[in-house]
Amino acid sequence: MTICGRDLIAKCDSIAKFSESSSDTTRTFLRPAMHQVHDFLGDWMRSLGMQVTIDAAGNLRGLHQTAPASARRLLIGSHLDTVPAAGAFDGVLGVVLGVAIVEALKDIHLPLDIEVIGFSEEEGVRFGVPFLGSLALIRKLDQTLLALSDRQGISVAEAIRQFGLDSNQINGATVHPPTIGYLEFHIEQGPVLEHLNRPLGVVEAIAGQSRYRTEFAGAANHAGTTPMHLRRDALAGAAEWITSVEAQARGIGGLVATVSAAHSEPQAGNVIAGVVRTSLDVRHASDEVRRHAVDEMLQQASQIANRRKLSFKADLSLDQSSVMMDLFLTSLARRACLETGCEAPVMISGAGHDAMIIAQEIPSAMIFLRSPGGLSHCPEESVLSGDVDLALAAGIHFVREFSNH
Ligand SMILES: [Zn+2]
Repeated sequence: MTICGRDLIAKCDSIAKFSESSSDTTRTFLRPAMHQVHDFLGDWMRSLGMQVTIDAAGNLRGLHQTAPASARRLLIGSHLDTVPAAGAFDGVLGVVLGVAIVEALKDIHLPLDIEVIGFSEEEGVRFGVPFLGSLALIRKLDQTLLALSDRQGISVAEAIRQFGLDSNQINGATVHPPTIGYLEFHIEQGPVLEHLNRPLGVVEAIAGQSRYRTEFAGAANHAGTTPMHLRRDALAGAAEWITSVEAQARGIGGLVATVSAAHSEPQAGNVIAGVVRTSLDVRHASDEVRRHAVDEMLQQASQIANRRKLSFKADLSLDQSSVMMDLFLTSLARRACLETGCEAPVMISGAGHDAMIIAQEIPSAMIFLRSPGGLSHCPEESVLSGDVDLALAAGIHFVREFSNH
């Protein structure tokens, strides 16, 4: 094998220069910078003899066909869009690893075709809805989503047209029928693997999420003249609840709960807060555990509010079920990591990924690479070249094993 982790990191760094901003890496759904990414990766794919197409959702697709063409196909990929001021590896590394696996295996006869996909959209930055690229593969990039508009009033359908594609052809962007598995490599974007001192991890499930907007309401009043026992302080009530959410989450294995935004009114140093609005984000691999925990958190908020003579309300803004990765492919991924000498822990992904969309239709597996410092969604995001070497080797083992089944 000639291509190595350092080459792949160099490719990710090159792709990071294709940006809609001059000062950082920002690449949202089908802005012109995505043409440069497609050209860069498409040239590499074509040099390996792959057939390169861009589907109507703007996904880059490169097909490596065995001769004669196999009746079975493995899809490998991740996303090519980024958050604003992003790092070079989130998403892109999974696509680059897919092409590198083809490069390493192209001269070996495998009874399996490999399609590498670079999804056009996963982060949800431009239209506020994530996974536009992978949703197209399972026929869920529907008219409602195509009609969404960005801050300039440009719809998804119009963005597709401006990129030189035809949204009326969106049905052609689905998973191709011989596809029997999906493999996604992704940086962990968290500190767990680094903490365990392991280069790779295998994802068994992507956590479900509950999101709420809450409001504590009391009475705004003079901070100097209102005695403590006659106050209805919304911020003190919210604060008590926020620490109780943290304490409850610490007591449930695998649960993460976050109140990250709190806005009080009227924001004056000499006025007791009358209203506080907060966020709540709760995630767990088990939907039952998550929903039960959320119920308890909201009950706790009501009790705190009652005791403090406040009112409390909570509006659900997201209830997303957890998604299991395929049991067989997950064990195959662990064995493939083990072949490289790496015992990969089984993990839950707290973040959403394209695999959670594709898994709804195709058996899917995900391999995480350690994120130094746990950093992601920032320019400091990085990856170790030795870990990329191992990921590539594991991917090659995975494809060889998979092709024998
Ligand atoms: Zn990502």
